[in-house]
Amino acid sequence: MDPRSRPQIEAWLRYFDDLGLGPFYLDRAAVELPAVGAGGSEGGSRRGVRPPLRSRVEQTGPPPPVTAQSAARGARAQDVALPVLPSLFNAAPRVEGDTLERIREDIGDCKRCRLCEARNKIVFGDGNARAELVFIGEGPGHDEDVQGLPFVGRAGKLLTQMIEAMGLRREEVYICNIVKCRPPENRQPERDEVATCSPFLDRQLAVIRPKVVVCLGNVAAQTLLGTNKSISQFRGQWFEFRGSKLLATYHPAYLLRTPSAKSEVWKDLKNVMAELGLKPPKPRPKAG
Ligand code: SF4
Repeated sequence: MDPRSRPQIEAWLRYFDDLGLGPFYLDRAAVELPAVGAGGSEGGSRRGVRPPLRSRVEQTGPPPPVTAQSAARGARAQDVALPVLPSLFNAAPRVEGDTLERIREDIGDCKRCRLCEARNKIVFGDGNARAELVFIGEGPGHDEDVQGLPFVGRAGKLLTQMIEAMGLRREEVYICNIVKCRPPENRQPERDEVATCSPFLDRQLAVIRPKVVVCLGNVAAQTLLGTNKSISQFRGQWFEFRGSKLLATYHPAYLLRTPSAKSEVWKDLKNVMAELGLKPPKPRPKAG
């Protein structure tokens, strides 16, 4: 393949992946699809899909079961009986008295994976350390890499608008990514990169202890939920994730390309608002 065509082909593949139109290639070792939701894996168990991200989840055990408290919190959601899934997300050992500052210090000038080679700045995460709501994306893009802040490009502006439409300010939530360094040419992070970086995010979530985690896009959702199903198959459903409720919705970058999907995302955000007891902001009075 002409290497100059690669970024464009990757961009198209990711676009179709966002649409839920994968797979485009057969992996030599087709993998068993983990179940998502109560219905189990759909349509048989072996399909040529991207292999799941490697993890040590088997060593760390499944996420905690639904508690009476979390079920009560989910009383407004349609599915109080949440599916409990194994996650492919790498857990970190719990650190006594952990803080976001300490996690950032531990990351340091990280060279633990190859994403350090082309990055400009580590994008740690940004927002309220006591946020009830955390948004998790895939990884930094160009603007984020330059500024060292998550979701500051065009997609970030749209995310800010989405947050404000929920009646919140951006500073009231926490925003971060699965990996903290920009993958070259905005490719998807590789499995080993996710495996290396995700313990830092695990610690961040353990410190923040949000009520709700919203995964933005396929990569974040698949990583945390431990599935290689397309997000279109479980978007908008509630899952239990380590004591938080988790919902996946489309990435704002996808909405920039596909504005017609905004109504579905708004439905998801309204579900999140109900979960958090938020009321939509009153419409501004019309001028004149
Ligand atoms: S992506 Fe994460 S693990 Fe890899 S170099 Fe950056 S901070 Fe370190």
